[in-house]
Amino acid sequence: MARFDVLIVGAGHAGAQLAITLRQRKFEGTIAIVGDEPEPPYERPPLSKDYLSGEKSFERILIRPASFWKERHVEMLLGRRAERVLSSQNQIELSDGSVIEYGSLVWATGGSPRKLSCPGHDFSGVHYVRTRADVDRIKLELPDVRKVVVIGGGYIGLEAAAVLRKFEKEVTLVEALDRVLARVAGEPLSRFYESEHTSHDVNVRLSTQVECLEGKGDRIVGVRLASGEVIAADMVIVGIGIVPATEALIAAGAQAGNGVLVDDLCRTSLPDIFAIGDCAAHSNRFAQGNTIRLESVQNANDQATTVAKYLTGESHPYDAVPWFWSNQYDLKLQTVGLSTGYDQTVLRGDPASRSFSLIYLREGRVIALDCVNVARDYVQGKALVSGGIVVSAEMLADVSAPLKELAAAAVA
Ligand code: FAD
Repeated sequence: MARFDVLIVGAGHAGAQLAITLRQRKFEGTIAIVGDEPEPPYERPPLSKDYLSGEKSFERILIRPASFWKERHVEMLLGRRAERVLSSQNQIELSDGSVIEYGSLVWATGGSPRKLSCPGHDFSGVHYVRTRADVDRIKLELPDVRKVVVIGGGYIGLEAAAVLRKFEKEVTLVEALDRVLARVAGEPLSRFYESEHTSHDVNVRLSTQVECLEGKGDRIVGVRLASGEVIAADMVIVGIGIVPATEALIAAGAQAGNGVLVDDLCRTSLPDIFAIGDCAAHSNRFAQGNTIRLESVQNANDQATTVAKYLTGESHPYDAVPWFWSNQYDLKLQTVGLSTGYDQTVLRGDPASRSFSLIYLREGRVIALDCVNVARDYVQGKALVSGGIVVSAEMLADVSAPLKELAAAAVA
């Protein structure tokens, strides 16, 4: 039976970063990565951005060239799923029936797209955006597609809509809530992005529920709304969130809620088993200590680093400032901190100029910034967030005062 000192399940951002960091830290034990996709680890963010648009080839989104893993003696066991965890024996069973023993097991499985369940959800032409294969299927169909309905006004839906407009598709974006980005951003940011998409001729439909999908034969032809209206569609792209991929670990007895529960060293409740990235639920100081899952490259990489350090003899609790980005049209949004729980927002700059920041405060302290085309605020605002700095709304709104000066002058 094969045995690895560190066995990583999930060949995505977190899994790849863990193997990279272990080798950087001179870890000499054996490492293997099990991945159910056929490809070596690649970056997921471009899937709804420049990989979908064709501006980046697949080779350019690989996290490392394929040769890297061989050179670093990281065994890639691709095209196979980890089906069962036998935690009392430190073993896992793969979909090909093989059993592998581990010293430490790191669960880095991300999540799978939340699926539509309404009638018609399985017509051909209905797509999700999580893997390279998903996007290749979309790209293959696009030349024959004129009308696309995007379901979900989160980052992925909005980014896909922006790319589809570049291809001059007729795009309708349907969002159940009364504004886009409602779960992650304040109202001014939502309204800004709505108006950007509208000005790029995306038909943005808010407070709109999907009743079912309609087809001809097995092919999608429309989306029926709760109001009875039918929006014609040659393609539907669904972006309504993910479900963490944690079944096997939960079946093995790991404590879980919305994701596998981990402590600040990313240890699960099972011995020798860690969880990192999108699938890991952890208590986060930037969410007022609440247990949350973050779906970001930052979190995947930083949790991987926490585990790599732990496995090489250094215990550094995970405490990284969350950050994220989104590209739509010529707009680069960069966010730092978590805005959940804010009681005040401050606009710094004028959205009409298409370069501004929305700053979130709770009890006077800066907890997050969403910066649109203003990288300086993003870079300098990080210190305000990590220090939980108290700054007056007037000072934050004054664009003539760099945020780094406010951070230096303010009281923590
Ligand atoms: P993943 O990268 O999803 O990797 C998990 C891997 O494990 C997958 O290959 C999965 O198939 C595999 N797997 C699952 N179960 C098993 C199993 N049982 N056995 C074997 N393998 C398994 N984040 C940002 O910060 N900025 C962005 O702009 C951004 N844009 C995004 C755009 C898109 C379209 C998507 C999908 C995500 C985006 N994200 C973005 C989020 C970011 O990509 C994720 O947070 C990140 O990929 C999480 O890394 P991970 O390793 O936890 O999971």
